[in-house]
Amino acid sequence: MALKILEACIACDACFQPCPTDSIIPDDPIYRINFETCTECKGYADAPTCVEACPVDCIVLDEAHPYHESEKEHG
Ligand code: SF4
Ligand code: SF4
Repeated sequence: MALKILEACIACDACFQPCPTDSIIPDDPIYRINFETCTECKGYADAPTCVEACPVDCIVLDEAHPYHESEKEHG
């Protein structure tokens, strides 16, 4: 499942560099996540690095965009 950024985002840029898949989009007024490339950091980290980096806890699971099955199989 991809993650998404909520409106509480303060566009602080803390999540941008740590993302291993370059899925963070520095948009205005708030950042966004490319749900087509976000992997929940599977294979890179035990937990989403963007969530750990975010100072306002505004990054959550994007229920509307479950990650595709093939990627789950490869873990
Ligand atoms: S969960 Fe991982 S891959 Fe997805 S946007 Fe956050 S840092 Fe990037
Ligand atoms: S770390 Fe959080 S507040 Fe900062 S840009 Fe990313 S989502 Fe927005």
